Amino acid sequence: MRDRLKLTGASLGLAALVAGCLWLIAHSFIAQANRQQLNDMLQAAVIRLERQIDLAVISMGELGAQGPYGCAPAVSKAIEDIAFRSVSIREIRVASAKAVCWGDNDHEEIFRGALSASRPVPAINPAYELAPIETAEWKGLMVRWTSEDGNLAAFLATDGLLFDILPGELRDHAYMDMMLSDQRVVSHYAPEGAGAPGAEYSEFGMASERYPIHVRLLLDEDVAASRGSGFGSDIIAIAGLFSLGLGYLGARGLMRPLTPLQELDQALARGHIHPVYQPLFCLATGEMTGFEMLARWTRPDGSNISPAVFIPLAEDSGRIDSLTFALLDRAGAEIGDMLRRNATLKCSFNVTPDQLLDTGFVERFTEKIAKAGLNPSQMVIEITERQPISDIEAALRVSRELVDLGVRLALDDAGTGHNGLSSLHALQAHYLKIDKYFVDGVALDRKSGVLVEALISLAQQFGMEVVAEGIETEEQRIKLLDLGIREGQGYLYAKPLSANDLIAKADQSAKILPMAA
Ligand code: C2E
Ligand code: CA
Ligand code: CA
Repeated sequence: MRDRLKLTGASLGLAALVAGCLWLIAHSFIAQANRQQLNDMLQAAVIRLERQIDLAVISMGELGAQGPYGCAPAVSKAIEDIAFRSVSIREIRVASAKAVCWGDNDHEEIFRGALSASRPVPAINPAYELAPIETAEWKGLMVRWTSEDGNLAAFLATDGLLFDILPGELRDHAYMDMMLSDQRVVSHYAPEGAGAPGAEYSEFGMASERYPIHVRLLLDEDVAASRGSGFGSDIIAIAGLFSLGLGYLGARGLMRPLTPLQELDQALARGHIHPVYQPLFCLATGEMTGFEMLARWTRPDGSNISPAVFIPLAEDSGRIDSLTFALLDRAGAEIGDMLRRNATLKCSFNVTPDQLLDTGFVERFTEKIAKAGLNPSQMVIEITERQPISDIEAALRVSRELVDLGVRLALDDAGTGHNGLSSLHALQAHYLKIDKYFVDGVALDRKSGVLVEALISLAQQFGMEVVAEGIETEEQRIKLLDLGIREGQGYLYAKPLSANDLIAKADQSAKILPMAA
């Protein structure tokens, strides 16, 4: 009798021990998964604000490139255009020693008090500064750029940036702030009708590495804890543990909205991010000279997400290499044969400056294209000038290695970036791609023509060929030809095409040419 009691006691003890271990394992597993989800959410918020600031920097660069700061009607018009194109940029102030002007000149009076009280915080590059700005009718973030000509300030509406970052189940239990490094808030989210958060909130945070901004999340401790335990009692916990091990991930996928990063990972794994191909053509003969590979994210419901949204996310989360190489794999399979048949066609694709400088990029790229059966001397790597090149010496080394392999480089979005002559020097690029912004202007005003001429002469001095982007009209084609540009890309000739449409277009171009010649 005593033995049986002992045995039962031991069995129960052992069962409790096993259940306890399982409970602990499950707990730490859930806690880790939840921490990851919170991190992804914070990262998505940081990236979102960084991108708005990037856009302001780019837009001010575009405006600054139009010449000395002044208040000609064209300046207000250009500001209006920028505000129209952008979701968040609402206004730009242009100030030089001689004049101050805005898209809407009444704003000088309205913003005066807020501007003098703004106390901007410098970014890593102190030419850029950030400050929250609040007037009776407007609240958001100011990004100011000071140069020797004066200063430009872009005003961004940042208020709505946070709402959809929080998954539905947290929106009633969380506060979120986007803040500058001095703790001033530029965007705030609070549950509807809620007062200030009390002491019973846990704090999570993440800072940007690029700008003096960070994001803070205050989460109701009960919700944070219940996301960690999720069980009513230990008995239910023990019973639920076995199904949890297997079912947790599946249930999580079904029940919780995915964060942008989880969605991106899923899209990459399922091949929803794929290449499209936009032809390049000879402006004089209409012959196809090559194409640019552009990434597309097509959801299963057929909707498309713009690369302007997912490329920055892929870049900042370390997924850009897998994305680029997945595109190259797909391209090898889809259009490899056509490229081998048409040895004069070139295949361009986009690589970010940081990606180019990443250790081992050249080896990974070489291996990839060899596997995909692509010929290095048909490949052109486009590096955008919109992002700074952090290490000019390293860029020069990588560029030489690529050139030795027969790969050509193109400086993309020329004239819009901050690298200026140093990127021309560092990349030793074969092509200079003139941004659509200047192409839009050539048929409209003389100033853009002058700018394009300056870019062409710069290209000539560096022994580069010029390619014009975003050609939409016949008038632009003729004007660009007059300016001496031979090659281009744009809706006038073709939009980005599927692999089959590209192959048909290449065959058609190959047939037409001998007759034209
Ligand atoms: P980009 O490299 O300057 O590519 C040209 C963009 O202009 C493409 O937009 C193209 O569809 C668009 N475009 C070309 N011709 C015209 C035209 O006549 N009119 C108009 N309105 N637009 C034209 P898309 O495909 O939306 O790509 C946007 C940007 O996303 C690209 O600009 C590039 O910077 C980036 N991107 C796209 N794919 C990749 C990729 O695989 N890797 C990286 N790092 N960036 C990529
Ligand atoms: Ca490009
Ligand atoms: Ca471009």
